[in-house]
Amino acid sequence: MTNVVVLIKQVPDTWSERKLTEGDFTLDRESADAVLDEINERAVEEALQIKEATGGEVTLLTVGPQRANEAIRKALSMGADKAVHVKDDAVHGSDAVQTAWILARALGTIEGVELVIAGNEATDGRVGAVPAILAEYLGLPQLTHLRKLTVEGDTLKGERETDEGIFEVEASLPAIVSVNEKINEPRFPSFKGIMAAKKKPVDVLTLAEIGVEADEVGLANAGSSVTSVTPKAAKAAGEKVTDEGDGGTKVAQYLIAQKII
Ligand SMILES: Cc1cc2nc3c(=O)[nH]c(=O)nc-3n(C[C@H](O)[C@H](O)[C@H](O)COP(=O)(O)OP(=O)(O)OC[C@H]3O[C@@H](n4cnc5c(N)ncnc54)[C@H](O)[C@@H]3O)c2cc1C
Repeated sequence: MTNVVVLIKQVPDTWSERKLTEGDFTLDRESADAVLDEINERAVEEALQIKEATGGEVTLLTVGPQRANEAIRKALSMGADKAVHVKDDAVHGSDAVQTAWILARALGTIEGVELVIAGNEATDGRVGAVPAILAEYLGLPQLTHLRKLTVEGDTLKGERETDEGIFEVEASLPAIVSVNEKINEPRFPSFKGIMAAKKKPVDVLTLAEIGVEADEVGLANAGSSVTSVTPKAAKAAGEKVTDEGDGGTKVAQYLIAQKII
């Protein structure tokens, strides 16, 4: 495989408090600890395993603010070879369609791309659509929500997992895939890997350098936006039923009162 590109995204750590910015409801990235999305660690792991089996190199691609370089370094320390970071203030507030457009144009600057691996859904936006939109923009086959992936020559074979079941799917290269959390267990960066990552090349590009106009992206030009937000109600404590020989009856009465039965 000549070059496997992994789409990585830095997201707020699910363990820290996540907040939206007053006014435009975009994610307040500064208020939370930021991490490489766990699903993207798995995407990187899959790319590294393919590289170990078939040769070639692994390139990371991210669209994000300055701070996203921490996520890049983490993925480089796992073993990826190099990275492209699209960093431009005009990207702020871009929706999934615009993000995929930026990724599509950035991919055009990377040589020898045969396979693109993404996570199936980012932990913050949870749109679950960027890989599919990207495939549409590039006119490439897409295998999404894979729990298993194998490369046999120019053919990709995978198991796609959805609520309906498991589907055996295949596509010819070049192609785009997205993976779910069952695909593998990502490796931990070694000390050697962490040291080596400091010297690996990271190409930082503006929108102009990938041929995207500022008025094609960003909150003001997004096709969709958040218009209001209501926090979820805090979970109330459940009702405890003490069984004094009539537990079954009490549970049934509760379910009838809730109109569940
Ligand atoms: C509070 C909030 C509100 C939002 N509102 C909207 C909205 O109204 N409309 C809308 O369309 N979007 C909205 N988004 C999504 C936001 O704009 C996303 O960052 C962007 O649209 C991509 O969506 P996603 O990250 O959920 O992608 P997904 O499709 O869930 O991501 C799947 C995979 O695509 C790749 N990927 C995604 N983003 C990047 C990236 N920046 N760089 C590299 N790879 C990437 C990763 O591999 C990721 O695992 C909102 C997000 C938040 C947090």
